[in-house]
Amino acid sequence: MDILTKRETGYVGRFAPSPTGPLHFGSLVAAVASYLDARSQQGSWHLRIEDLDPTRESASAANNIIQQLELHGLNWDGDILYQSERLDSYEQARDQLTLHEHLYPCICTRKETDRVYSGRCLNKAIGDLSQPHSLRFHISESELTIQDRLFGQLQWTKHRDMGDFIVRRKDGLDAYQLAVVVDDIHQGITDILRGADLIHSTPLQVSLFKALREPHPRYCHIPVVLATDGRKLSKQAFAEPISSGTAVENIRRVLNFLNQKNIQGKSVNELLRNATITWNIDRIPKLRGRSEKT
Ligand SMILES: [Zn+2]
Repeated sequence: MDILTKRETGYVGRFAPSPTGPLHFGSLVAAVASYLDARSQQGSWHLRIEDLDPTRESASAANNIIQQLELHGLNWDGDILYQSERLDSYEQARDQLTLHEHLYPCICTRKETDRVYSGRCLNKAIGDLSQPHSLRFHISESELTIQDRLFGQLQWTKHRDMGDFIVRRKDGLDAYQLAVVVDDIHQGITDILRGADLIHSTPLQVSLFKALREPHPRYCHIPVVLATDGRKLSKQAFAEPISSGTAVENIRRVLNFLNQKNIQGKSVNELLRNATITWNIDRIPKLRGRSEKT
């Protein structure tokens, strides 16, 4: 039951960037890998813009990402899904979860919460719900296990590696995990291929899929690109945006990083077409992060 029965209808993949800045090499790696994996299995590939937080994101960044994907030959299927247009669906999902008593209010401040939330407010009777509070999802599983296509079996233990998490923030904004899962269900996503920096989100999302009575997709986490100082390339760490003037070279670098060897092609389309034919995830090093030069 864990594996999607929907998959019998085919592979459905996605790339889901947050528009907090321009596309950098690390995000291009995730985009190309999920694209090739989908296309190599005659699957569809969707683009979702995760623009839930207007304080961090901008329409110009979203448009910039869209343009960069086009210039790199990464053509998606169907319409782009914008999370900012899906707020009703997230509310419906929260209603459904409340109904089955999966959510509880939390009044903790950020200072009071550890990296893994202890469940402090779970059994606290919060009388006055007019005070600012977030809503947390209660993970009922004490352990969760999944089969990752690259890393094999991954296992998490409640309170050690995973804790109850926020689905609606104190400021009323929908939080990342719930929106992702609701959209993955809505788009019929069968396969998630993304950077290993998101591995810690996987058990939280799997628990949500279960609570919403939906099978979860297959997962494949790939190494994130590390800068030479060992830190993850990210917009926060001021990774350089990729240049569309060097699109062919950028795709070559990505294929090299993913250890997909001897791919010929003079254009991005030729390179992607040839890489689709020989795509093999087993060639990707089983590392959570690596720098481009190794
Ligand atoms: Zn709390």
